[in-house]
Amino acid sequence: MCFPSPNFRFMLPVMCVRMTVLASGSRGNCTVLSSENAAILVDAGISCRETLKRMRAMGEDPEQLKAIVISHEHNDHVAGLEVLARKLKIPVYMSEATYHRWRREHKDDEGRPLSIERREHFAPGRSFQIADITVTPFTIPHDAADPCGFTFKASGVKIGLVTDLGYMPPNVKENLRGCDGLMIESNHDLEMLRNGPYPWMVKQRVMSRVGHLSNTALAEFFETDYDGSAAFLVLAHISEENNHPELARTTAQRALGGKMTLFNSANITLAHQDTPLQPLTLG
Ligand SMILES: [Zn+2]
Ligand SMILES: [Zn+2]
Repeated sequence: MCFPSPNFRFMLPVMCVRMTVLASGSRGNCTVLSSENAAILVDAGISCRETLKRMRAMGEDPEQLKAIVISHEHNDHVAGLEVLARKLKIPVYMSEATYHRWRREHKDDEGRPLSIERREHFAPGRSFQIADITVTPFTIPHDAADPCGFTFKASGVKIGLVTDLGYMPPNVKENLRGCDGLMIESNHDLEMLRNGPYPWMVKQRVMSRVGHLSNTALAEFFETDYDGSAAFLVLAHISEENNHPELARTTAQRALGGKMTLFNSANITLAHQDTPLQPLTLG
């Protein structure tokens, strides 16, 4: 909730943007992005019932949802999609390639392909508008049909959201410049992954250029390319088997601490798999 400055003599429209992470990790991803006029669900990787339950628990009104935006077709990002879109009767924004792969890979109980009635296709690199929110999708390196990260702009506030990427290519760094809030992947600790329980094939996939971002790779971005503009940072898609939340936090803190004294532990939040985060508000 935002309040106008007490100095304001008249009630001006209160401008703020809010991000509420409902779930993050390999068992489901879902985040609510809200402006004054609209709310968007970014990914739908937990069940419809759980999504609505967590929204209400965090004070988010499902009635405000104007659209669902999908990053890629992996199950942890779309498990609740078909039911949510049908129940909420709101459009789903996804790239055409993502839609076709999703349809091919996800069937109903009788084996029939699923479909989405109200569908809008976006193209990475081309911004589009949902109410007063400007959404910019951009290509990320990941083993899916057409995976995307996003920035969202409303009321002069920019929020970046990027998970599921094998490394940080220049176009991603470019898109994340000037973010006031940033949710970014800190998936695994390399040593834990190497020594952990995953089969070698899976380890290789996670470590590859189209896998997931390690704590170290994120730290390298923070040290070398990150502009330090965000008032909050959310470390996301943290592996339950190959990472420790505190390891992710301290690696990020150390990387940020060297160059930015403004950052301290209060600015870094860790996203969870089973419990939503308190809404983070900007503006
Ligand atoms: Zn994922
Ligand atoms: Zn994925």
